[in-house]
Amino acid sequence: MSLFRHDLSRIPPYVPGKPGGDPSVIKLSSNEMAYGPLPSVQAVIAQGIGSLHMYPDMYASELSAKLAAFHGVPADSIVPSNGSVAMIEKILTAVCSPGSEVIIAWRSFEAYPIAITVAGGTAVTVPLTPEGGHDLDAMADAVSARTAAVMVCSPNNPTGVALTHGELSRFLTRVGDDVLVVLDEAYVDFVRMVDPVRSVDLLANHPNLIILRTFSKAYSLAGLRVGYAIARPEVAATLRAVATPFGVNALAQSAAIAALDEVDEVRMRTDFVTAERMRVAAELDELGLLVPDSQANFVWLEMADTQPFVDAAARCGITVRAFPGDGVRVSVGSTAANERILSAARLYTAR
Ligand SMILES: *Cc1c(COP(=O)(O)O)cnc(C)c1O
Repeated sequence: MSLFRHDLSRIPPYVPGKPGGDPSVIKLSSNEMAYGPLPSVQAVIAQGIGSLHMYPDMYASELSAKLAAFHGVPADSIVPSNGSVAMIEKILTAVCSPGSEVIIAWRSFEAYPIAITVAGGTAVTVPLTPEGGHDLDAMADAVSARTAAVMVCSPNNPTGVALTHGELSRFLTRVGDDVLVVLDEAYVDFVRMVDPVRSVDLLANHPNLIILRTFSKAYSLAGLRVGYAIARPEVAATLRAVATPFGVNALAQSAAIAALDEVDEVRMRTDFVTAERMRVAAELDELGLLVPDSQANFVWLEMADTQPFVDAAARCGITVRAFPGDGVRVSVGSTAANERILSAARLYTAR
């Protein structure tokens, strides 16, 4: 006898990056920033500890107002959440009924199939293009009367490939307004390309769009768990209604507010990471390893047999994230960490 819904046994395991332990090993398996939280943000967190006996602001109003000003949208367009993954779960739970399908590119973020199954839906996977990007035509073709939502991840985790504004707006026009489209932009701060997606502009013509952002990556706050949705006010109202009460903790709210005062510093950090990403990708390319055009803080090495690369990485003192059968994802870190990536790649190609 099972106490839970039988379909939950289909949930694929989420494999977190290996936890640290050996301080000489650099963890490049979870796309975390090499830098800690900004000093001013750390100070705000330290100050907030004394008030932890109080519930946080239920709707994170100050943070929402600040994010609204930052994005040039009304304050009621912003819905903060306990990390953006919690928002993904809430959205999918709110749209799925038995028989619902959710279209995703594959391979993409491994949290999607889990959240879809928990919500009672079925994931419809559309293979990535050979270049590692979303096949938006095939995804639009997959939309049917059963479709509850389409997840779009740009830049895509784990390949790093990003959509252009033109590609995404054509897709949204083709899909129409009746199907929810969730655009996960966790890595948007690392995009340096021609015609980047201007997602907030798309809300004007596409009321079915929800944009997801997070403080976990560029803002170095993965451990605090804070993300948010940007949507038209009528959509945002439903997201607020289904939110976990007091879901965004007090320290996360004040840290995120403080982090938004440091956008120049954050930009310097992402500039460094993107420059390093380009350098690492170019060198990997020279070694003959297949690296798609990453617009994120990681690179993707396509290979069916991942173990030799994982072993080479371990010998060079880094942990990477293997997706056996598909490839290996490596976060771009400090200069020292990136040298280890290149050493591992040389060891791997020379074997
Ligand atoms: C890291 C990541 C997130 C961020 O999740 P949080 O819950 O905000 O930490 C969201 N989407 C993708 C694709 C990611 O890789």
